[in-house]
Amino acid sequence: MCQVCRRSFMRGAAALGAAGMFSSPLLAQARRGNTGASKLPPRGEFTIANAHVMTMDSMLGDIADGSVHVRNGEIVAVGKDVQGGGEKIDGAGMIVMPGLVETHWHMWNTLFRSFAGDKPEDGYFPTVARFGQQMSPDDTFQSTRLSAAEAINSGMTFVHSWCHNVRSTAHAEADIRALAEVGIRARHSCGWPQGLPDTQSVDQGAIESLARNWESWSNEGLITLGMAWRGQFRAGPIKPEVYQPEFDNARKLGLPITLHVASARKAVNQIEPLYKAKLMGKDVQLIHTLSASAAELDMIKEAGAAVSVSPGSELRIGYGYPQISEMLAKGIPLGISIDTSALTGSSNMFGVLKLARDSENARVESEFKMTARKALELGTIEGARSMGIDDKIGSLKPGKRADLIVISPNALNMAIVTDPAHLVLEATGPENVDTVVIDGRILKAGGKLAGLDTRKVIAEARAALAGVRERTKWR
Ligand SMILES: [Zn+2]
Repeated sequence: MCQVCRRSFMRGAAALGAAGMFSSPLLAQARRGNTGASKLPPRGEFTIANAHVMTMDSMLGDIADGSVHVRNGEIVAVGKDVQGGGEKIDGAGMIVMPGLVETHWHMWNTLFRSFAGDKPEDGYFPTVARFGQQMSPDDTFQSTRLSAAEAINSGMTFVHSWCHNVRSTAHAEADIRALAEVGIRARHSCGWPQGLPDTQSVDQGAIESLARNWESWSNEGLITLGMAWRGQFRAGPIKPEVYQPEFDNARKLGLPITLHVASARKAVNQIEPLYKAKLMGKDVQLIHTLSASAAELDMIKEAGAAVSVSPGSELRIGYGYPQISEMLAKGIPLGISIDTSALTGSSNMFGVLKLARDSENARVESEFKMTARKALELGTIEGARSMGIDDKIGSLKPGKRADLIVISPNALNMAIVTDPAHLVLEATGPENVDTVVIDGRILKAGGKLAGLDTRKVIAEARAALAGVRERTKWR
């Protein structure tokens, strides 16, 4: 690794982020919309050359000394002998790969990071329900913005903001505004307010208002809308007259649906009722499904539903091990997720992907059950497939949107470059993510977030938490 090359790379990336000399006048005029996200760096044209490119595309594979040419948010060319245009960025000694795709994260409760305690009354669910009920729309904004900034800093370029504390339309709007301000690609799944009794249907006002006017919220198509649904079971069963109208409304609005189901190993027999009631389909994402029987996995496959598992939180809360290998063997679309910083603390997706691989190996007591590359696929192309967006992102291929990261192994924890897939999975931390590009915008360069004042993000999130603390008389 050449220090001079790295510096020139950082200078190039930083210059692009700041100057945006190749930005399109048309894009510069892009409508502000409701999100007000007009301060993002412009999209430019640049070529990263001489890098080790892990395309995560089955045909293109890894390219040593490869180049990636990006123009106006799109990947124009990937290969060894690319004569790319725009700013030339020397990526010698760097690893370029698609940005990580996160598939279920309660970003609204990052304000309660590491707050799930050591006694049942301080556990995740009572804690989040109690304090979540005191959150204002601005608290939601602060929590989600902190999460989105952390996401980009650690190499995620897509997140699924699973918003199950929609106390008013303004709360949902605040979540979306935070995603837009930071510039991340995302799905906002609009849910219910914490504390809502399981006997009561969710008010559809917020989701209908957003769906009616979605174009103005979508941040030029970077953010999409879905419904976060309670499903048929919470603490106990929910009655059909409560859950069915919610499900039907999502279908009527044409929105993808996501729900937690069979979350813990002991929460058995929850997937078959969903199947029998015809509440699964290609537009439905199931979270956890740890207790699924072999027959229930067949039902998920037949229905065409996708699954998201979150080993970081599942292991921490004692749900058990996810059935990753079983689902892959059935061909079920599968993504990996953070779930909640209240349980996981930091939200380093590389660490969660490593846990996914390690938990598979631990279950069968084998060093070789899951490859490092398969774990990275789950965090990129397979995650994108599970969210139905693999035509746009998840691999580095001409025609796809330019969501990519550059990893610098020039650090004490990564300095010896051996097998790239193993090294990236096992050693990458946020500090090694040198550059992050989302939709062609350079949002992190030279290890620093571009266009975002991280001190302000942290200070305002802390102030929001202090307010919640005050209102709940939490000492
Ligand atoms: Zn969850």
